[in-house]
Amino acid sequence: MSPVIPIRAESGVGCTDVVPLVERGQREVFCGLTGIIWLHRKIQDAFFLIVGSRTCAHLMQSAAGVMIFAEPRFGTAIIDERDLAGLADVHDELDRVVNQLLQRRPDIRLLFLVGSCPSEVIKLDLSRAAERQNQLHHPQVRVLNYSGSGIETTFTQGEDACLAALVPTLPTHPTNPAKPAKPNSETKAPHELLVVGTLADVVEDQLGHLLSQMGIEVHFFPPRNSQKMPTLRAGMPFLLAQPFLADTAKLLQDRGARHLAAPFPLGLEGTTAWLQAAARQFGVSQADFDRVTAGPRQRAEKALAVHRSQLQNKTIFFFPDSQLEIPLARFLNRELGMHLVEVGTPYLHRQLMAPELAWLPSGTRISEGQDVDRQLDRCLQDHPDMVVCGLGLANPLEAQGITTKWAIELVFTPIQGYEQAADLAGLFSRPLRRRQKLAA
Ligand code: SF4
Repeated sequence: MSPVIPIRAESGVGCTDVVPLVERGQREVFCGLTGIIWLHRKIQDAFFLIVGSRTCAHLMQSAAGVMIFAEPRFGTAIIDERDLAGLADVHDELDRVVNQLLQRRPDIRLLFLVGSCPSEVIKLDLSRAAERQNQLHHPQVRVLNYSGSGIETTFTQGEDACLAALVPTLPTHPTNPAKPAKPNSETKAPHELLVVGTLADVVEDQLGHLLSQMGIEVHFFPPRNSQKMPTLRAGMPFLLAQPFLADTAKLLQDRGARHLAAPFPLGLEGTTAWLQAAARQFGVSQADFDRVTAGPRQRAEKALAVHRSQLQNKTIFFFPDSQLEIPLARFLNRELGMHLVEVGTPYLHRQLMAPELAWLPSGTRISEGQDVDRQLDRCLQDHPDMVVCGLGLANPLEAQGITTKWAIELVFTPIQGYEQAADLAGLFSRPLRRRQKLAA
């Protein structure tokens, strides 16, 4: 058997005790509606009805762009000035749009009413509206609500709000084994693991296959079909596949599920540590773990070497966008040798991020929240080789001679797992190569 690449030994605690630079100024971040773009692709019998303004409709049309060719599973009930006359109009408008939608699309089984910013929408009690729609359309469709408003949510928080709305609806196993599985335990607790967070189907298949080869039965949340929601058991262990699901994790814990702390499955090391957290939980032997993962680890290591030569010793600066920044920075630093100038995150959840913070070089500048002008000043002063930022900042920074990477691309592209590790590295090495070619 080919040798297994070890996870690098640690000498310290990295950034575990970091005091972040906290900023609460103007933000340049998408709102939580954006999550609909990947959520509607994942849950294939769900529909996302944005209760919002024309601005929301335009955002979704342009952000989703290419997907408009297929009949999309999201839309907007436009609530605007004419509804100022009274909330009754808003309810009528919602009834009309939902009726029309369900007649046209009888395949819809799960309907989300997604709240937004306009004052008329804020005044509307969306949970009561959802309850009313539930009564009108029961049992054909289940109607839930959450907020994707830019006032309450940033970018990936929309997925957290959506999954948090689903958690209370998850069924509970009727013969609930109250005893949680213990590592190497003699008790026969079921080897069932919940993986939480939207992943591309191809990634889900790969990670699911590796875990099942270790004898672990995996349930993904959200599932591809709303009729196949995972059943919860008391003590059921879960792993987060995405770092931005703090509310969802908390609600799952409130329902008795147990969070397994782990780095996120980005890069070779992150994926290995993430899988190891599951393997340890179910007492999978090191020999079995190595047997299952050796091949993919070898492939990932080989594929990453190509990008390492390009990225080694380059400097990178992260503006806050997706909450993926810290795991991405850890991957780029440890596996590709990049130097971290600043790692911005919209929100730092210390508990969920603890394994990632421990893997960052001690003294890394971490900022939480944003004051975009001040952050731009720091960035221009540091003049890094590469900046990860939103669409609005990319062009001005490129004009200053700084190579940029759009944060949104990192959320829409399959980047988790062994087979995607080199693709993820390629997202950073390609723009640098392009700039070098242009400069030559
Ligand atoms: S920020 Fe508010 S108004 Fe703008 S698109 Fe998002 S939800 Fe709609």
